[in-house]
Amino acid sequence: MEPWQQQLAASLTRPEQLAERFGIDPAPLQAVVDRYPMRITPHTLSLIERPGDPIWRQAAPDPDELLPDQLYADPLNEAAFSPVPAVVHRYPDRALLLVSGTCAGYCRFCTRKSRVGRPELCFSAQQVAEGIAYIAGRPEIRDVILTGGDPLLLDDDRLATWLAQLRAIEHLEILRIGTRVPVTLPDRITPQLCAVLSRHHPLYINMHFNHPQELTPASAAACARLADAGIPLGNQTVLLRGVNDDPQVMARLCRGLLSLRVRPYYLHQMDMACGTTHFRVPVAQGLDIVEALRGRVSGLGIPCYMIDPPGGEGKVVLTRDCLAAEAGKVLVRNAQGGLISLPDH
Ligand SMILES: *Cc1c(COP(=O)(O)O)cnc(C)c1O
Ligand code: SF4
Repeated sequence: MEPWQQQLAASLTRPEQLAERFGIDPAPLQAVVDRYPMRITPHTLSLIERPGDPIWRQAAPDPDELLPDQLYADPLNEAAFSPVPAVVHRYPDRALLLVSGTCAGYCRFCTRKSRVGRPELCFSAQQVAEGIAYIAGRPEIRDVILTGGDPLLLDDDRLATWLAQLRAIEHLEILRIGTRVPVTLPDRITPQLCAVLSRHHPLYINMHFNHPQELTPASAAACARLADAGIPLGNQTVLLRGVNDDPQVMARLCRGLLSLRVRPYYLHQMDMACGTTHFRVPVAQGLDIVEALRGRVSGLGIPCYMIDPPGGEGKVVLTRDCLAAEAGKVLVRNAQGGLISLPDH
């Protein structure tokens, strides 16, 4: 096993392991883990200072995940846009290829939290091959995003094979990978992996830092290896209560990312995934946070604040115009120009 695989194997997956370390009561957490899996890498564990801090909130199961809510198991209606099991094709020119059903750490706010780490999201090599064949048959697709789960949990050979098959498709202009391992398992970013990736340019990586405490020396070194391999790096942050719902925290995160050669790309309003109500931040507060970045952070470091409405209409930029007169609602325009009203709670 490579060192990163050993670290992954040493991750905490049971509430009793958290209890031993932090002296909390594991009993209420067991029911949460029965429903939504837990995995905390040794690296993430080393960043937790105390229960309830921003790293803990992202990684540790919380009984609030089981509160009844009006949210969705499939908040982006991906099932309706999935022509074959491993593909989500919502925009004409772009498609998601879901190549891995597991992640180094299971984020408590994950949009696919009802499926991630479970067989429902673990597609076979045969199903991924069908996905690649689907993409090969659609000349309008220019951009494929490898996601899951976390594509960088695949071993180098598997990843190299699929990247090469995608690169052989003439109409694909760019490849992208969405990954959180630079945050949760930075040693996965080995020189060998970077060599594989750099054979398939233009290849972009979007990662997922949510808090400045995650910008550790190990993560900085991982980003440097990727950037040195010529890979343009972006970051997608989710706006999370008790983690980054503060203008100063967000400013430190965005500035820190720029120093690591990572361009803040999107700030996502939380998707309406069930089990995530305790993370929700109202849109008005999100707008305040983004507006506070202007003047404090280089323009390069200001992400675009987005919402992906349930139902699968596609991403929409959030502005003050989206604040409805009615409290607790936001108004956004869908791709057809129609106005839709969304709950904002
Ligand atoms: C977000 C997303 C994309 C990529 O969108 P960009 O705005 O180009 O980053 C592609 N397909 C699906 C289904 C998505 O949800
Ligand atoms: S790394 Fe991404 S896919 Fe995996 S649990 Fe976190 S948010 Fe979900």
